[in-house]
Amino acid sequence: MSRSLIDGDVYDSFRAAGEIARKVRSEVVYRVREGASALEIATWVEERIRELGGGVAFPCNVGVDAVAAHSTPYPDSDYALRRGSLVKVDLGVEIDGLVADTAVTVALPGADEAMVLAAERALEEALRAIRAGVRVSAVGEVISRAVTSYGYRPIANLSGHQIERYNLHAGLSIPNVPAGEGRLEAGKVYAVEPFLTTRRGAGQVKHIDRVEIFRVSEDSLVRSRRLGPQHEAVVRRLLESTRGLPYALRWFPDVDREIHAVLYRRGIVKGYPVLVEASGEPVAQAEHTVVVWEDGCETLT
Ligand code: MN
Ligand code: MN
Repeated sequence: MSRSLIDGDVYDSFRAAGEIARKVRSEVVYRVREGASALEIATWVEERIRELGGGVAFPCNVGVDAVAAHSTPYPDSDYALRRGSLVKVDLGVEIDGLVADTAVTVALPGADEAMVLAAERALEEALRAIRAGVRVSAVGEVISRAVTSYGYRPIANLSGHQIERYNLHAGLSIPNVPAGEGRLEAGKVYAVEPFLTTRRGAGQVKHIDRVEIFRVSEDSLVRSRRLGPQHEAVVRRLLESTRGLPYALRWFPDVDREIHAVLYRRGIVKGYPVLVEASGEPVAQAEHTVVVWEDGCETLT
């Protein structure tokens, strides 16, 4: 594998982040049980990442049943996992701004375990097809075919993504259906993440009127100045702590919720609305982060 295609330090940081992500993902599976608290699971994941020497790249997502993505427990959440649920845990580890993004789905007793298997197989097949020069649409086709062959439907409007320093969704998207433009490049890092639902499902997600994950940028800081020093101080605090990576309000008990709400309403703080399957059917997901080489790809997570 031609390591010269990627800066050595960048590669090492991605690999270190990937190792932590893999470990935490494999450990969290045993905590996803009937009656377990979603808040405790998310908090445990984030603490475990730090304990292993990583940064938390984004709030740990816990998506139950039709909730596909962008859901993380609020600080006062008392939500407990129920029998028959399909539970997705999506976590990100950051080292020096480089992120390993990975997800696993757990079928609690009574849920359709074959959905989990289908998502994992679709991911394996996609990774086998990946090397430099492959079109993203071809990866989408492999995922879509695998998912369909197991009797499920891919989610057409969720996709994997390129990852760059402090930019989790950079450049290329990697669809779960045969669509999209562009080719994978050697030495670049991508997250591949098949999402699927039942055949009765719409195969689409829609966003609902709930935002649990936010993001600020340098631009937010500039724009906050017009609202006054208190607003600016909040954005500065968030930006210094997150460096532009996504966050949950539960990480910042000191941040004034009213001020934050104003910043969000004005579009100064960006939010990622919770995404749910459009017809309410359950969703399964599997995700790995990979680095692409001329002759294949290397799974980092
Ligand atoms: Mn993810
Ligand atoms: Mn991702």
